[in-house]
Amino acid sequence: MKTRAVFFTDIKKLEIREIDLPDPGSNQIQVKSIVNGICMFEVWKYISGEFDRNDIPGHEGVGIVTKVGKDVTWVKEGDYVSCNQWSEYSNIDATQGIKLSCDSSNSENHLVEPLSCAVNAYAYTDIYPGDKVIVFGAGYMGLLLIQLLGHAPLHSLVVVDAKTENLELAKEYGATEVINITDAGANARLEELKDYFDIAYEASGAKSALEWCTKLHKNGGSIGLYAWHHDPRTVDTSTWHYKGTKILNVSPPITANERPLRSYEGADLLMASGKVSQKKLITHRYKFEDIEKAMEESVARGEGFIKSLIEF
Ligand SMILES: [Zn+2]
Repeated sequence: MKTRAVFFTDIKKLEIREIDLPDPGSNQIQVKSIVNGICMFEVWKYISGEFDRNDIPGHEGVGIVTKVGKDVTWVKEGDYVSCNQWSEYSNIDATQGIKLSCDSSNSENHLVEPLSCAVNAYAYTDIYPGDKVIVFGAGYMGLLLIQLLGHAPLHSLVVVDAKTENLELAKEYGATEVINITDAGANARLEELKDYFDIAYEASGAKSALEWCTKLHKNGGSIGLYAWHHDPRTVDTSTWHYKGTKILNVSPPITANERPLRSYEGADLLMASGKVSQKKLITHRYKFEDIEKAMEESVARGEGFIKSLIEF
């Protein structure tokens, strides 16, 4: 059959192309896309030109099974599954996706892959009841992590960001204190909190936030590196030395080796149970045909932007 898919062709240039899609192999399924998230990873590829022209972007999809290979037992036609590509239809195998717990009423918000990154960050940070935790960055990925932390038995959960609306959401998700870094008293308040936290998460990608994380965790505490710092950073390793800082790389590419899709399953069940919701986080939705506009606005990240996705 024929299907249409997105290809990046040059820096800030893309096209929708018609391609041939064979029947799924014996261990594959064919999936019709419902939605697919626009990750900042794709945005970065789009603006930097660091992509393969033959690759179809996308890794945050929700789809419905339309055909199954003869040896497939884990799903049947009509089931909802996680999927990857920005393509109307695609073939995937069992190692690339999981069966989802959503249905037609909520599939449009059920982005498993990005939440699985927050699940991994949480799982790898060794959180202990009564911990004092601070998160720098309440963007989309930060707010997913904050929703998880909001369910943990923490002593305190402080969130720092520059956007008032995002900090309001952080409060709703369980932050015990929010600090708007653009406020006059913000630095003085952070100075008061020096050496206070068991865990300081860097979820913003800002150099200054990484410096604050170093100051704010207590002796023997941890820094959870969750955001992507594109540029090399100079850090105060002397402070890390005498504080005995545990530096934990909890960035999205970490996975549990023995069960690579375990964090997907966790993410799926958290949304199915209503403990985590992405409804208020997905602020921008675009039709597949409007992918160019979707990319432009995802690069610009204007007023009220938290997360964008494509609808098929
Ligand atoms: Zn992503």
